[in-house]
Amino acid sequence: MQKFEFVNFSNVNITDNFWKPKIDKVATKTLAACIYQTETVTPRIRNFEKVARKKGEKHEGIYYDDSDVYKALEAMAYSLKTHPDSALENKADEWIDKIAAAQQPDGYLDTYYTLGDISKRWTDIEKHEDYCAGHLIEAAVAYYNTTGKRKLLEVAIRFADHIDSTMRLANRKWFSGHEEIELALVKLYKVTNNDRYLKLADWYLSQRGNQYYTYGTNWIKPEYWQDLLAVKKQTEISGHAVRAMYLYTGAADVAAVTGDKEYMGVMQKVWEDVVYRNMYITGGIGTGGTDEAFSVDYDLPNENAYCETCASVGMVFWNQRMCELTGESKYIDVLERSLYNGALAGLSISGDHFFYDNPLASNGQHNRREWFGTACCPSNIARLVSSVGNYIYGKSETGIWVNLFVGSNSVFQFGKTNVKLNMQTDYPWNGTVKLNVDLSKRTKFNLYLRIPGWANGEAAPGDLYKFSNYDKIPVTVKVNGKELQYTVENGYAVIEREWKKGDVIEYTIPMPVNKIVAGNQVKYDAGRIAMQRGPVLYCVEGADNKDGVWNIIVPASATFTTKQQQILTEPVIALEGEALSAMPSADGGSVAMQKRTVTAIPYYAWANRGNNEMQVWLPVRINDIKIGYQTKYKDGGNY
Ligand SMILES: [Zn+2]
Repeated sequence: MQKFEFVNFSNVNITDNFWKPKIDKVATKTLAACIYQTETVTPRIRNFEKVARKKGEKHEGIYYDDSDVYKALEAMAYSLKTHPDSALENKADEWIDKIAAAQQPDGYLDTYYTLGDISKRWTDIEKHEDYCAGHLIEAAVAYYNTTGKRKLLEVAIRFADHIDSTMRLANRKWFSGHEEIELALVKLYKVTNNDRYLKLADWYLSQRGNQYYTYGTNWIKPEYWQDLLAVKKQTEISGHAVRAMYLYTGAADVAAVTGDKEYMGVMQKVWEDVVYRNMYITGGIGTGGTDEAFSVDYDLPNENAYCETCASVGMVFWNQRMCELTGESKYIDVLERSLYNGALAGLSISGDHFFYDNPLASNGQHNRREWFGTACCPSNIARLVSSVGNYIYGKSETGIWVNLFVGSNSVFQFGKTNVKLNMQTDYPWNGTVKLNVDLSKRTKFNLYLRIPGWANGEAAPGDLYKFSNYDKIPVTVKVNGKELQYTVENGYAVIEREWKKGDVIEYTIPMPVNKIVAGNQVKYDAGRIAMQRGPVLYCVEGADNKDGVWNIIVPASATFTTKQQQILTEPVIALEGEALSAMPSADGGSVAMQKRTVTAIPYYAWANRGNNEMQVWLPVRINDIKIGYQTKYKDGGNY
């Protein structure tokens, strides 16, 4: 049923001016920040050392803190693949020794219970034991794939065996309070070829919907952790956004291996519920501040948007899997939106500050931080950026899919022939993509070039967002300078050809500035527009608009043009246009409209120049201007 497989990032050498500097920055800055916070500032590594010392010392921090160590290790493993660094590898080995020393004789590994009351282990579903195990497994698989070293993999296998015996083989009434282990077990299955782990992943999925556990709090209800219905009966998104993303990613992974069509059927419905009714224009998800959860349909407030960085990372994971299962490009449209906007905003340009929640409007109080008490987001964005090569190419026996446009070199095998593909582009700032083919002998294969939904008049799949100005300018494909007629399949331009050395494909995707309007059901965006160019969503920030951001009015007739701009070390394409300002008179008794020039910058790049106001959705008329600012929680949510 799988149409193609995504090419692993380790086979994609990224060379462009957009992602490569970010991957380099993760290697040099972000990982250093994660390591410093994990072992020096906070007690995360210390907890493992305490277990090994066996001196009855107490656990420090929060019960899920082990997971941040594992996720940082996973990011280190990806980075080591593209940026070999013996000091970093030594640090990873040092951590792995400490983790291995904290494993119990029966395979159990969780510093919270081992330093606390071990007799209470596996009794409280909210305590994230399987979530931590999942991140351990992901780190172990990543580190083994990069270095060939098995130590952490053996630790993960022993823990997974312990869980399998304790849970599945014992018919335990249990499910994962925070999903994650499901997708991790599929990775463990693939690296070990032991179907015990695939069965355990499937077992975890099958346990939901029984409501084994009820909680005394008023916000942990069965739907909070997707336990209201069996996974195969779920059709609507509910509850904690990150948990939901990891659950459906795991279900898609199991379905891809087992061919289980029931998972696929329901996931398409859930996906539509997310994208058609519950997704921000940034590709972010999750409204609630207290429970980090989905709200009712269309409840998408801008100042109070939660849009946890991890939830956007989860959208990237899930949409990749959905595309792999169906071969349809609409999933990459969503993946691209979440990646370039909702997720990337989680990381500062300097590489060492992080957003947890990503609102779409701010009065200037919202800033990235060095770290968080609950520190899931920093290492999550680090592992995503360092492995972003995972989302570019797909391959089947008969074709190559180009899903994202990122300057890179990759090699594909057809029979005994190696096909070297070199992609050159200034994407996301420019829609011209050049592909050079190099191969030893003439070879037939299909090339599938994704036609982005936004290049086809679709702001996002469904009716939630629409372009208010769209002039159809078709994408064009030239091979060796000659324009080709192409067919379209599942949202990809298909080029069937016998390729020869030196063939050059020029793919041109027009990138006008598009204004977006939200469906009437989204009351927060009523009478407002947002702006997008290519995959990049824009916002207005105080740093570029000294006369204020909350008083800007963008009349329907206003047009915006592009200009080069430098934001710290980041060269971007900014937008500039004539708009209006609503300025109160000196006595405050009236409002005058003044013409002004407004600059909009990529949303992901905001909040890098000090405290600033920001808005994504701008009013078209004075009636819709909103004076003042209200927020139900200060500077983020419950982290
Ligand atoms: Zn997070």
